[in-house]
Amino acid sequence: MAMPKQYVKSHAGEISECICGNDPDYYGFVPCDRQGNQIEPVAGEWDGLCVCQLCSRIIDDSFAVVGISAWPAKASRINNSYYCPLGTMV
Ligand SMILES: [Zn+2]
Repeated sequence: MAMPKQYVKSHAGEISECICGNDPDYYGFVPCDRQGNQIEPVAGEWDGLCVCQLCSRIIDDSFAVVGISAWPAKASRINNSYYCPLGTMV
């Protein structure tokens, strides 16, 4: 039996709150690849996925949780200058 899909909260086309309680002003969310590695949100390279920097959930452009990153998201908070631009493909 498939697990029911989990969705994060969204507002105006952006993630507003993760299931873990993270929001854009707390740890934030960054664009990522299918493995959850942080990447630049460049057309042709980016699939519209973002990763929660608190719980490492990978979130797609329908705000569904599609995986968990093995990448240690919390550790890279220092480098976070992104918000996650879901729905605004560069
Ligand atoms: Zn989260």
